[in-house]
Amino acid sequence: MRGLMMDYQLTLRHILERANRLFPAKHVVTRDRDGVCRGSYAELFGRVHRLAGALDALGVRRGDRVASLAWNHQRHLELYFAAPCMGAVLHTINFRLFADQIVYIANHAEDKVILIDPSVLPIYEPLADQLRTVEHVIVMGEPPSGLGSLGGPPVHRYEDLLAAAPAKYPFPDLDEGEAAAMCYTSATTGHPKGLVYSHRALVLHSIVEAMVDVVAVCERDVVMPVVPMFHVNSWGLPFTATMVGATQVLPNAAPTPTDLVRLIETQRVTLAAGVPTVWFGVLSVLQQGRHDISSLKRILCGGSAAPAALIQAYERLGVEMWHAWGMTEMSPLGTVTHLKSYLDDRPPDERAGYITSQGLPSAFVDMKVIDEQGQDVAWDGNAMGELVVRGPWVAASYYRDPTSADRFTDDGWFRTGDVATLDSEGYLHIADRTKDLIKSGGEWISSVDLENALMAHPCVAEAAVVAIADEKWGERPLACVVRRTDSEAVSRDDLLEFLRPRFASWWLPDDIVFIEELPKTGVGKFDKKVLREQFKDHARSSPS
Ligand code: ADP
Repeated sequence: MRGLMMDYQLTLRHILERANRLFPAKHVVTRDRDGVCRGSYAELFGRVHRLAGALDALGVRRGDRVASLAWNHQRHLELYFAAPCMGAVLHTINFRLFADQIVYIANHAEDKVILIDPSVLPIYEPLADQLRTVEHVIVMGEPPSGLGSLGGPPVHRYEDLLAAAPAKYPFPDLDEGEAAAMCYTSATTGHPKGLVYSHRALVLHSIVEAMVDVVAVCERDVVMPVVPMFHVNSWGLPFTATMVGATQVLPNAAPTPTDLVRLIETQRVTLAAGVPTVWFGVLSVLQQGRHDISSLKRILCGGSAAPAALIQAYERLGVEMWHAWGMTEMSPLGTVTHLKSYLDDRPPDERAGYITSQGLPSAFVDMKVIDEQGQDVAWDGNAMGELVVRGPWVAASYYRDPTSADRFTDDGWFRTGDVATLDSEGYLHIADRTKDLIKSGGEWISSVDLENALMAHPCVAEAAVVAIADEKWGERPLACVVRRTDSEAVSRDDLLEFLRPRFASWWLPDDIVFIEELPKTGVGKFDKKVLREQFKDHARSSPS
């Protein structure tokens, strides 16, 4: 027997129209040179219609890719809705990738129109001639030297196009399975791989993200996504925040930690989201002066492991840090940490273990850990293996990339490439990415655990642990440490002593090197590829 409910399509248009109907007076706040500028959801709605009309007039049709090279701001949010709601595909490009990757991505996606921030034009200009399919360029602001100097396809001013466009755009009724957005992974080997998110996937992701036991986004929130809008849809927050009518605070181009603290203070941000590096930076600003961050209730932190020391430092400031794990292939949400009610009275160490873990799978995310033979391992917190996932917002394949079939199991689960354990309560603990694990004498050493422990030392600002080749053991861990500027010098031997009681002796790094800064990827994660290359011939230094 079939259910007798309506066949209602889950599309982003519902989210846009709901915000306009129910929350027209709520605001999107964008940081700008003089402070902030504000637009209401009613204004946003009108501008989304005009932008869709403008794109249509430039020849954008259903299924066409509309790319962006842009920071987090209201115009980018307008594009987040205009392109998908007209049936086109929003393609956010990470402009921090290498130039040849940007060219590859734009050509592979066959972007037809590209919208660019004035501040990103210097990245675009040298590449303009190589983007084979781009027919129009739209500058989202005033280019410093006017439009005339830009080569390549015709260039338009965003505001001119909107002014000339009709006030209403007849958005089509879309099928929920149609593509809404695209994003490419920052590939560590080979070319970046494209993901195509359907309307249905993004709508379901938004609903679940808003759940109280997931990210708990509600109308009363003032949400500040620091995670860039070019990185996995800014973790879905632009859609989720609009759906519930939350105020959005968008930090715009290259925000410094001080800018972020100022936004939290002045806009009374309640929920902020970003990678650990961002929160380390903000923490040092908070520790240096008096700031009123009393509005900030929680920080969503993920993208790489949030060290326990970071979570605890914010706890002392009265801010809960919710640790989340996800992937570009998962739109991106997989897990978020919350303590189950009956774990409240467990000993502090055990509670801390749950709070610093990557958390519990969200509703509709299935996960399991498999061994090298593809068999499920026990959920006992010890058995390690590769984490595999499935769910309505998990990729079923990459875009036009037949070479990636091995990223899926024969029975259709996505292989995350992360090595993990699941404990008996269902909490996920990521040990490493497969390629970052250190295999010493046939046994695995988790770089993430060592980094976490090192970053708990008061003199350590950042730490990354990488494998270096070793004749006897195959690989051995090397720790690369950035000292805190305001701390007394700490030596290699001090840090080894600090680690000794916490790990088996064979886990201890063979050496600790001190560096000025850790190399970071385009989305702010430690770039271990660079470190592995830099230190591949490293021999243990004399004690420092
Ligand atoms: P990229 O592959 O472009 O770096 P993703 O953002 O998709 O981009 O990276 C996903 C990977 O980041 C995961 O597979 C995992 O290795 C790592 N990751 C994300 N969140 C966490 C976390 N909370 N703890 C540890 N690793 C994480």
